[in-house]
Amino acid sequence: MTALDELKARLLEVDDLKSAASLLRWDQATYMPPGGAVARGRQTSTLGRLAHEKFTDIAIGRLLDQLERETASMPHDSDDASLVRVTRHHYEQAVRIPASLVSACDEHAAKSYQAWTLARPANDFATMVPLLEKTLELSRQRANCFPGYASIADPLIDVSDFGMKAEAMRSLFSTLRTRLLPIVRAITSRSPIDNACLRQHAPLADQLAFGQQVIEAFGYDSARGRLDLTHHPFMTKFSLGDVRITTRVRENAFLDALFITLHECGHALYAQGIRKELDGTPLADVPSAGIDESQSRLWENLVGRSRGFWEHFFPKLQHAFRKQLGNVSLDTFYRAINRVECGLIRGGADEVTYNLHVMLRFDLELDLLEGRLAVKDLARTWRERFEADFGIAVPDDRDGVLQDVHWYDGPIGGAFQGYTLGNIMSAQFFAAATAAQPEIPTQIARGEFGTLHHWLRGNVYQHGKKFTASEVIRHATGNDMSVEPYLDYLWNKFQPLYGLTERDRMTLA
Ligand code: ZN
Repeated sequence: MTALDELKARLLEVDDLKSAASLLRWDQATYMPPGGAVARGRQTSTLGRLAHEKFTDIAIGRLLDQLERETASMPHDSDDASLVRVTRHHYEQAVRIPASLVSACDEHAAKSYQAWTLARPANDFATMVPLLEKTLELSRQRANCFPGYASIADPLIDVSDFGMKAEAMRSLFSTLRTRLLPIVRAITSRSPIDNACLRQHAPLADQLAFGQQVIEAFGYDSARGRLDLTHHPFMTKFSLGDVRITTRVRENAFLDALFITLHECGHALYAQGIRKELDGTPLADVPSAGIDESQSRLWENLVGRSRGFWEHFFPKLQHAFRKQLGNVSLDTFYRAINRVECGLIRGGADEVTYNLHVMLRFDLELDLLEGRLAVKDLARTWRERFEADFGIAVPDDRDGVLQDVHWYDGPIGGAFQGYTLGNIMSAQFFAAATAAQPEIPTQIARGEFGTLHHWLRGNVYQHGKKFTASEVIRHATGNDMSVEPYLDYLWNKFQPLYGLTERDRMTLA
């Protein structure tokens, strides 16, 4: 057996254990009866521990040493050289953090999460202060396992958005924020769009069926996946032949389910599009949280909330929901699904205000990690920043600093930037695809998605994790990541919806 074969065989075992754990988690989130919870927690953590032990085996380190020499002269994009490079990165991530710190983090996260489930409904941030202080300390310890960083946030960001640096992101986000704020101000000074047509009752089964019809038109392969119901929707992959999505249906919030389904389908199209030769290796994955989110956002928003998409699908939607939409015009409907609103909650926020929620969290994470902000002042700082950005007061911490689970069940640092990176990249990929294939918008208006899907598969999906997000974006679009295509997209879409003028765009710039 060659060293490469041995490495692949060992990695396949690790992948099997991880996939089994993912299947147990999928079952827990969909069909498991409540009585299974305690044993299920133990079962997934046993599998996780076994996978970790196998992966951090010193033999893997020795194989990587040998294979790095053997693959040194291979091209950067060869499958074998990429496998060695990416596995080395994962291996260092896994072995540099001492087991004692990993278990201290896990234990603390469980305790903190438990406290948060009570503190949020009770609007009780004070209880969370000592727990968050400990989380911050543990997050710093984690980062310090990777010395040599420019910002202490860099190693934490690396976990989800490999290669992205706090400083580069700070400047990207600050440009975006400066240019977004005048647009948000201008939109919220106009009278709100009426979205009453969405606030209607519609049966669960009909909502699910419509979503299924759209994702199949997108190119989701149901022979290699399935759609189920859950409380907190997600996409999960057990192999490249089994990529599942989950959604949530609210009978009174008509169409929420459809957009959630399209979002998760975007993640799934990415996973289903990875070359099958990479299956069972660390390369059968996405390069970063941001680029993964770029695809959920692209299919959900740039396609699913576009005028062209609904020119084709609105008559079908009206047919399926005659009682709700029989007397609603396409124009009224299109405006309703694109209504912009300054709300308190990040989840479900519209395309224009969403990033302000993310950037607020990202900046506060940096301030905490870099020592400019103390945890005891976090809730107050949140309220001040929120009011400055959104122009509305935060009435309580429940819908302020306590609203997202991220800081309460994981480290502080690296959890949020991917959402906005995804939005930025979604527009950049879509612009590049339509520049290469100008017929895409016309095809979307006919309910045809093959050209777009094929371009994305060829330029993004098929590579899996062989390249970093920055490399993929450069190869696919010919440019480094930039906020310009995203700002152009937002302007071209929302300018006519809200009758904005050039002056609106410039006011604060
Ligand atoms: Zn997503």
